[in-house]
This record gives sequence, C-alpha cells and structure tokens, in this order.
Amino acid sequence: MSDFDDDYDFDSLPTTRPAGPAAPEAVRVAADPARRRGANDADLHGILQQVFGYNAFRGEQHDIIQTVTAGDDAMVLMPTGGGKSLCYQVPAIARHRAGLGVTLVISPLIALMHDQVGALEELGVHAAYLNSSLSGEDAQRIEREMMSGRLVMLYAAPERVTNPRFMAMLTALDERGLLSLVAIDEAHCVSQWGHDFREDYLQLAQLHERFPNVPRVALTATADDHTRADMRERLALIGAREFISSFDRPNIRYAIVEKDDAKKQLLRFLNDEHEGDAGIVYCQSRKKVEETAAWLTSEGISALPYHAGLDADVRRRHQDRFLREDGLVMCATIAFGMGIDKPDVRFVAHLDLPKNIEGYYQETGRAGRDGEPADAWMAYGLADVVNQRRMIDESPAGEEFKKLQRGKLDALLTLAESHDCRRVRLLSYFGEMSSACGNCDNCLNPPATWDATEAARMALSTVYRFRQHSGLSFGAGHLIDVLRGKVTDKTTQHGHGTLSTFGIGAKWSEQQWRGVIRQLLSLGHLRSEGEYTTLVLTDSARAVLKGEVTITLREQRETTRGSGRTRRTSGSGSGKSPAAAALQADMDADAKARLAALKAWRSEVAREHNLPAYIVFNDATLAQMALTAPSTLDELAGISGVGAKKLEAYGREILRVLEA
Ligand code: ADP
Ligand code: ZN
Repeated sequence: MSDFDDDYDFDSLPTTRPAGPAAPEAVRVAADPARRRGANDADLHGILQQVFGYNAFRGEQHDIIQTVTAGDDAMVLMPTGGGKSLCYQVPAIARHRAGLGVTLVISPLIALMHDQVGALEELGVHAAYLNSSLSGEDAQRIEREMMSGRLVMLYAAPERVTNPRFMAMLTALDERGLLSLVAIDEAHCVSQWGHDFREDYLQLAQLHERFPNVPRVALTATADDHTRADMRERLALIGAREFISSFDRPNIRYAIVEKDDAKKQLLRFLNDEHEGDAGIVYCQSRKKVEETAAWLTSEGISALPYHAGLDADVRRRHQDRFLREDGLVMCATIAFGMGIDKPDVRFVAHLDLPKNIEGYYQETGRAGRDGEPADAWMAYGLADVVNQRRMIDESPAGEEFKKLQRGKLDALLTLAESHDCRRVRLLSYFGEMSSACGNCDNCLNPPATWDATEAARMALSTVYRFRQHSGLSFGAGHLIDVLRGKVTDKTTQHGHGTLSTFGIGAKWSEQQWRGVIRQLLSLGHLRSEGEYTTLVLTDSARAVLKGEVTITLREQRETTRGSGRTRRTSGSGSGKSPAAAALQADMDADAKARLAALKAWRSEVAREHNLPAYIVFNDATLAQMALTAPSTLDELAGISGVGAKKLEAYGREILRVLEA
C-alpha cells in the first residue's frame, strides 16, 4: 500500500503530546489557533441539495450550520425528529472540503453506529465508526483513514475519549490541523438530572482542554433548565451559542382514552388506524409486555417483546428486526428507548401510565421522526392512578424525592383528565406558550362534560361513613357497589346495605363512577392506602363535601374515531416534503402499482447492503417517485431525498422499475 500514512505506527503512539510527523504546508495553515474558516452560504445549500437531496433547511438548521461551520461552539436543543444530525453533518462536510479534516462524533449508542455510518456512505460521505465490535484489522484500517484526514466523520463512544491511545491519535491529528470539529450527540447524558446519565460523558470536557481551537457542537432533545446548565458547565461550553427550537411535534396526534378493556381498545386502534404500520406499545411490567406481544400475535399482528429481563442476544435480535423489517409492533418496557431513531414509527401506544410528563413526551416522541403523521395513544384508568401512587409511596426513596415524584405524577394526571388541547398543556409544561392545535383528540372532538359535583360528594361521604360505621376503609370496587346499591357478599358481611348512602348513586353507571373516583384521586381529595389500596379522605375532601368545589368530568365516549387519516396535518415546517400518506391518497391504481414495485426494489437493496430500508430512500421519497413517475434522471433528481450519489447509484434502476 502506498497511502501516505501507512508508515504511521499507531501502537507506538505516546500518550502525551507527540511531536507528530511533518504535515503538508497547506494543512498547517488550518492548524493555526484562528481556525475559523468555513464555507459560504452557497456551499452549504449546495451540500444540502447535492449530498442529501433536500431543498431547504428546516427551522434553525441554517443558523446552526452557519455557526458551526464558521468554527463557533453551539448548543442545539431540538425535539426528536427535528433534524439534529444535519446540524453537524453539513458542517463536517463543508469543513472537510475546506481541508480542515475529520469531525469526531461522540454518540453513546454503539448499536446504532453501523446504521448511521451506513446512511452516510449511501450518501457518498466517507464515514466510519470505532467501537469494540470491530476486528483489530478493521480498526487499524479506520485509524489510518482518520489519520490521513480522508475520513469526513468518525463516530465513537464516549469511553474512547478516556483511552490514552485514542487521545494520542486525536492529538496527532490536531497537530496536523486535521481535527475539524467535535459533535457531542445526546449531550444530556452529561447531566445527572435526567435518567440517561453516563459517567463517561464527564470526561468529554477534556476535549476542550486538549483541543481548545477545535469547535464543538452539543446536541440534545432534552430541554429542561437543569440539563441545559449542566451541559454548558460540564462540557465547558461557556461561550457556546444556544439554539432552542420549539419542542412541538406537530405531526404527532395525541389522544388519551379512558381504559375500559384496554386490550380490545388497543386492537381496535391498531386495526382501524395502523394496519401494517410499525409502532411501539409500552407496558409497565415485563410480564405484561410478554402477554401483550403474544396476544397481538394471536390476533394476526406481528409483534415482538422487549424488556431488560430478556437475553441480550434476544433483545438485540428483536431491536434489529424492528429497525429493519416493515410494520413490526414492539411491545416493550421503557428499557426500549434511547436511540430508537427509526424514522417511520407510526404510533406509540401506552397501555399503562408513564411516570411523568417528561417520560410521556420522550416515549411518544419516538413516533413520526420523519415528519409524517403519527399517533401517540394512551389508555389510562383508575387502577393506573392507584398503582403509580403506590409505587411512589412504597419506593425506598427519601420523602423529598417522593414529594417531587408525586407532583410530577399529578401533572400527568391533569393532562390525562383535561378536556382542552393536550398539546397546549404539554408545551406549557415545558415552558412554551401555544394555542389550540387542531391535531389532538380534544381539539378534533371536544369532549362533552358533566357536572360531577353531586356524585363526588356522595362518594366522599360514603367513604366517611365506612369509617364511622366500622373503622374500616374499602377499595373503589366496593365503594361503587354501595353507591349503586348492588348487594354483594361484602355489602352483606359489613352491613353496608343499611348505610344512608346505599344506592343513592344508582343513576350513574359503573364507568361514570370510576371516572369520579379517579378524578377525586387525581385531585387529591382521596388517597389510596395500604396493600389493598383502600380509599381514605384527605384534608381537602372537606371543601368538596361542603360544596365549595365543583368537579367537572369528561363524558365517556367511544374511544376510536373514524379514520380520516388523509385529512391530517403533517408537520409543515419549511423544507419538508409532502407527507407520504397524503401522497398516497392521491394515487391512482397505476401509481399504487409503481409504489409497490419501488418498495419491493428497496427491500432488495436494503438486504444487499445490510441496512434498514429507510436509509436507501424514505417513504415520502418513494411515494413522490410513484406519483410523478419521472422518466429521466433529471426529473428524478428533482425529488426531495434524491442526492447526487443516490442518483448515480440507483437512478437507472429506479427508472427501469418505474417503466416496468
Ligand atoms: P433528530 O436527530 O433530531 O431526531 P434526524 O436528524 O434523525 O432528527 O432527522 C429526522 C428526519 O428528518 C431524517 O429523516 C432527516 O433526514 C430528515 N431531515 C432533516 N433535515 C431535513 C431537511 N432540511 N429537509 C428534509 N428532511 C430533513
Ligand atoms: Zn389540540
């Protein structure tokens, strides 16, 4: 081999700053401390169009990309699906073209590096990753590519940064002026405040100390103030410009339904609205995950389980299938989480209540990263409220922490019980003001409400009477039986048929009563206690009993609506291609046949390249091809998502598929 770096002996690299071999003159210029050279605007747009095949930057991408390309530090806060990757990939390409060398991308998700790098190579961008899964030979080859400066992007896990040998390589690279940029993905992992804290991230500040002239960009989808402050401080990003995008995910439709028969409700939701779609069903326990997956399979839906109790091997296999195959449903605990950046997840369903709004938003955020319409659907009921409260009460945490958890649960319950716009409430929880969205269950189908004040007083006074009568407290089921005047073994045994409130609430259904009790628990007028989760009054119950508080409840209604999917709004930020679903609605039989042929072709290519299908082309791009049926390469190039490299690699084949 004759590459100019082949004589470089990596294993003898000292762990302190080495003298480094002589670098070419042109490169030395870039090594100057004033390494503030980049590309102009035309170049940046050119990269977007030629390499990625997109027509316009989205939201703040343009500003961010200019800043980073010019060599300034940046902190990027954008919701999942907002388009963070481009914020370092475009600068990496621009700076590489300017002779500034390699961008180091720190990512905690080793499992995903293969696909991330594969996607870049598909675009004709020379990228690689270094992690423990590589053979020594492959790792050496990649190290050589990096040291030569030919590589545009190198992905590595944070623990590599503490590896002295790797640091020595970076140092040598920097001294030749070939360390262009450092991108820190999932940067919230540096904060102990969230649930994704990674010790290794604390080491990343070293990168700044060692390479003060190399610009850095830190990216995250977590927005709260604590995390933000931690990122700035712990990553030594003191002077970094901060870019905070709106956290709205306009293409996600939020719906929260009252649990009746949760499994049936889920099945109806899947059959009516998501036939053949990929999605995630979150459950609280491993057992329920297994049961739900088995049950969906028996109902003819391809579903797989995922939870921390499964073998690492099984987990990897299931995750891999979910990423690669079309239309799989993953039933999972929250162990299935960070880094699931499959863009075409069409729904996230919750069969159990999440812990808090942060969790809910993060989990539902995994739907619709491609900007196409997606659903966040949750079923919740009385038992969820009781269970979540009990889990907090029984946890070994300190009282201070429990109080915080209870407050967060209350905020989630308020969201679930609300009869106004869900999105307005969600965004305001994250400090963002907005107006009614028109794309949540309450906006689309404003719920009727009823005045449940009288019913609430009846329930509370019955709980009071139980205590008076025998000093005992009882659970919700028995309370409802007494209110509705149902004679059971238990009412007989405890003599509750003689209570003055026995049967006074017969005009309301059992379901209505469950709603009343759930609301009373959510509002804190009732508390559930002990192993049998019996109900007791709290201090605030007195105000309700005295009639000083009114209680309004949403009317129970059918939980799934008629489909109407094609009328949905998709996220309509600038630069977005029309939604695949909307395009499909416009298709005649010929176009549909073309789409089917294109999809079959795509699966074939994806299999050959060992990559998920969406990396070859995403659904919206395929739909656009099927609809417009381009007959020349030029026409094909005009479609969003078709960059120069893909045009060259696949253009002719696609035209052939379309012709046939
Ligand atoms: P994030 O990392 O913020 O969750 P990604 O970087 O994965 O989001 O981007 C989400 C999707 O949006 C990807 O499919 C990406 O290719 C696409 N995308 C990003 N920016 C643009 C753009 N300017 N025009 C069209 N599509 C874009
Ligand atoms: Zn709304």
